[in-house]
Amino acid sequence: MTQKTPAYGARAAKAPVAPMTIERRDPGPHDVEIEILYCGICHSDVHKVNDDWENTHFPVVPGHEIVGRVVSQGAGGSPFREGELVGVGCIVDSCRACPECRAGHEMFCEKGVTFTFDSLEQGKETWTYGGYSASMVVDERYVLRVPKGLDPARAAPLMCAGITTYSPLRQFGCKPGDQVAVIGLGGLGHMVVKLASSMGADVTVLSTSRGKEEDAARFGAKRFIATKEPGALDALQGKFDLIVDTVSAPHDINEPLALLRNSGTLVLLGLPPNAAAATPINAGSLIFGNKRLAGSNIGGIPETQEMLDYCGEHGIVADVEVIPIQKVNDAYASMQRGDVRYRFVIDCASLGA
Ligand code: NAP
Ligand code: ZN
Ligand code: ZN
Repeated sequence: MTQKTPAYGARAAKAPVAPMTIERRDPGPHDVEIEILYCGICHSDVHKVNDDWENTHFPVVPGHEIVGRVVSQGAGGSPFREGELVGVGCIVDSCRACPECRAGHEMFCEKGVTFTFDSLEQGKETWTYGGYSASMVVDERYVLRVPKGLDPARAAPLMCAGITTYSPLRQFGCKPGDQVAVIGLGGLGHMVVKLASSMGADVTVLSTSRGKEEDAARFGAKRFIATKEPGALDALQGKFDLIVDTVSAPHDINEPLALLRNSGTLVLLGLPPNAAAATPINAGSLIFGNKRLAGSNIGGIPETQEMLDYCGEHGIVADVEVIPIQKVNDAYASMQRGDVRYRFVIDCASLGA
């Protein structure tokens, strides 16, 4: 049995995101049925609709930064209450038994993780549809608790942008006094500034647009560099312990490697289109200084809950512009121009409008 749900999605690569009706399963014994209140727009949604990674299965209903209210739960004695504010991030299922699942790294499930949208369910037959919709049904194990006191619209982006930035800061041991830089002040980038400065790091923003300087300071950055200005990077050579690269477009990564101090790490979060020319990396950029080049993929369910609890304790949420779903294509266009302050969040009540 299924239920029809209003949603917005794209029917083909680069097609406008438009109204459609999708089906959600009836809640099973361990499922939670959620009325979606807000859904953040991640740049990964834009890449998926554009088929930038050449793996999108259409039609696609994007959205994996979801906050909603529990409407009902299955008969299995759910840990959630009706009316409770909950979150759903990038992952909605996995095998639960492999070493990666048992370690809480469900995104690396050896049997294949089920992402929240454009992903095969564990039965390997049906596809998942994301949060640009009125409601969804999710196994309780993949549902997150939203700490009290966090504004629901501003908490939604924590479900992807929050965990994707919190995880590498923890993996690379961000601590008081560390010199941390972030490249790109968008949805992920502004969360790096808020989280790293809350951990006591001295944060520098490397941005293409001088216009974001005051906001960077408000988020906690100590320094702001407009990277297109001549000589902008001269004084920063060999400075940083950790550089977090959130740029969504192709760019040279030898340049930031030169800004690392010895044994420093450049961690890539941005996933530019497949078709883009790969950056050649000079071996010397890494060898002279024992530098490390790393990547980091979202974060598992336990670490996502840990991040949410951390944000609850520290009062950390995203800076958002709440829009009705009817403005989603304009939001995509702005994000493709790098013009976002700092996350568009869909008010999902507008799906019924
Ligand atoms: P976003 O909000 O659109 O921000 C990206 C920022 O990158 C822009 O605001 C801009 O910042 C900068 N930028 C854009 N084009 C640029 C260019 N040509 N050259 C230099 N800088 C440029 O995107 P997001 O949602 O933060 O996502 C960023 C990337 O991370 C995307 O590729 C997304 O798919 C990926 N992602 C990865 C993971 C993961 O698990 N690793 C998770 C989520 C998202 P300035 O204006 O400050 O220059
Ligand atoms: Zn995302
Ligand atoms: Zn698994």
